[in-house]
Amino acid sequence: MYKIMTPGPVTVRQNVRDARSLATTNPDMDPEFVEFYKETCDMLGGLMNSSGDTYILGGEGILALEAACASLTEKGDRVLVIDNGLFGKGFADFIEIYGGEPVFFTSDYRKPIDVSELEAFLEKSSDFKYATLVHCDTPTGVLNDISEICPLLKKYNIMTVVDSVSAMYGEPVDVDASGIDILCGGSQKALSAPPGLATLCVSEDAKKAMNNRKTPVASFYASIPAMMTYYEDKWFPYTMPVSDIMGIRVALENVKNDKDILARHAEIAEATRKAVEKSGLSLYLEEGFANTVTVIELPDGLTDEVLLRTLREKHNLLLGGGLGDFSGKVFRIGHMGENATVENMVETMKALDSTFAELGYPLDVSLEEEFKKNI
Ligand SMILES: *Cc1c(COP(=O)(O)O)cnc(C)c1O
Repeated sequence: MYKIMTPGPVTVRQNVRDARSLATTNPDMDPEFVEFYKETCDMLGGLMNSSGDTYILGGEGILALEAACASLTEKGDRVLVIDNGLFGKGFADFIEIYGGEPVFFTSDYRKPIDVSELEAFLEKSSDFKYATLVHCDTPTGVLNDISEICPLLKKYNIMTVVDSVSAMYGEPVDVDASGIDILCGGSQKALSAPPGLATLCVSEDAKKAMNNRKTPVASFYASIPAMMTYYEDKWFPYTMPVSDIMGIRVALENVKNDKDILARHAEIAEATRKAVEKSGLSLYLEEGFANTVTVIELPDGLTDEVLLRTLREKHNLLLGGGLGDFSGKVFRIGHMGENATVENMVETMKALDSTFAELGYPLDVSLEEEFKKNI
């Protein structure tokens, strides 16, 4: 087995794996399952300080993004797509599929969204039903300040769909304080359960907008309204993945019991960045570093394919490569959730030290030593 220090899926703790192997029930017929499901959703909502409704859907994080767009968009709706990364830009596809009209606010991919620039844009144009934005855009690791951006959009009566799939549980999120209308998450990032579940925290305003639709949602599986009355009706629109839910419940308990989780992410990420800068390698971003993933430029002449293969074959270690336009230009360390421990990072840095040396790109100083100095 490889050590997976990728920006999702991440390492899964034994107690989560154990929970997934327990005897299962028929989730459609067993009244206790509805209670268990609701408690699990409420626990997630509590961790995110969301007083609205929370749903856990069978399907990876992408389903949360699609369900949010499917459920809010009606034909001709103008939607603001806040784009400073691949996931940010990608929201436009969902909006178009469901008949909406995406309007881009695009900015430098090496920096977080500048809130005053966004405000200047909104001064001129604010006729949008909702806006989409990404908390941590994983291909670059840029972190957008949702606690500033979402309230600003609300001031202009624009609802917000936030993709925090690769940030939540590793970066602070306060749904109520920030006025987030739909918070999208997944099981396989910092929450540290296996891939397979999408999570949604949905505000009252978002529910109202869905209930006031003139046309039905153009999807069944990606419809939030289809889930809305499950508790009153004791009926799910489709059979819930019971073992996945039992696993995510324990993963949520792990997070809840881990009082230092955010501080640990911050310390590990900071020490990683310092070590990278000292070593002579370059961080991809200029500013706005997320604490869940670090994206590092490859030295001239070295491809991510060669670096990742050597790490895999000689050190049993998986890291992330470049996605989309970043393909071949960067590699990525996912230090989120269960991956975010000092031991895991020391092992990762050690493997990188010897791999860069083996490939003929010796570093100025040892990543392992620098990381240890800063932790
Ligand atoms: C991982 C991730 C998703 C979900 O993508 P999957 O392909 O379902 O894993 C969505 N948004 C961001 C920012 C992500 O990092």
